[in-house]
Amino acid sequence: MLAHNDHVAVAVSGGKDSLTLLNLLVKLERKFPRSQLTAICVDEGIEGYRDEALLLAAKECERLGVRQLIVSYKELFGTTTDEIVKLSLGKTPCAYCGVLRRKAINKAAIMVGATKIATAHNLDDEVQTVLLNMLHGDPMRIIRSSPVLRDVQGRFLTRIKPLCDILEKEVVLYAYLTGLEFQSIACPHGNEAVRNDIRAFLNQMDQRHPGTKFTLQRTAERLRELLADAAPAVDLNECAKCGDPTPQRYCEACLMLETIIA
Ligand SMILES: [Zn+2]
Repeated sequence: MLAHNDHVAVAVSGGKDSLTLLNLLVKLERKFPRSQLTAICVDEGIEGYRDEALLLAAKECERLGVRQLIVSYKELFGTTTDEIVKLSLGKTPCAYCGVLRRKAINKAAIMVGATKIATAHNLDDEVQTVLLNMLHGDPMRIIRSSPVLRDVQGRFLTRIKPLCDILEKEVVLYAYLTGLEFQSIACPHGNEAVRNDIRAFLNQMDQRHPGTKFTLQRTAERLRELLADAAPAVDLNECAKCGDPTPQRYCEACLMLETIIA
């Protein structure tokens, strides 16, 4: 996932996963003098929720001596998640927020001159997404949610998920044992009904049949290899509006922003 001279942009939300990842990457970075680390924090504009998390993230960055860049939806896109929720559009708030967050992190990573983007998805997140993509009838998305997403032509920054093989409960344990101060309240707009059911199902399965989550992760890895061989190469153009790589004329974020701002 990492090279000795990487400049890693770590997406830090202020939750247990991202603060754990930040701590682990800081330890690694200290051993490699030519590597760099920048924490990227995104302010989606969620009152009473994001403000607390941003504060915790800033405190931890200061304690660790990590450079931090905060970008906001308002300055980048001219809107906030709270405003999007008020519009009651067709999709769940998470659908919009997820696409915009990915774009915001990407923009911030380019701004600081990073070579890679690290996000704190853990094993539980990963296997939930695999099942979610299957239930949504979108097997090709399993390729795009790979723990290491690299573009051989260098059109987008490599994205890595260093915690992808770590169970969520182990991340929680690490955060508690190291005394990390993290945000534990859930997002007020969070309403991913299907994911919640999948989470409960997988937790029950893993409790009754230990190893289920790891097995599913290995199955997804194997599927990615098979799907990658079978999938036709996707031609990426520059989005006609923002210039980001996209298989269509406009990227997903620009299409979304059009419906939001219109
Ligand atoms: Zn675009």
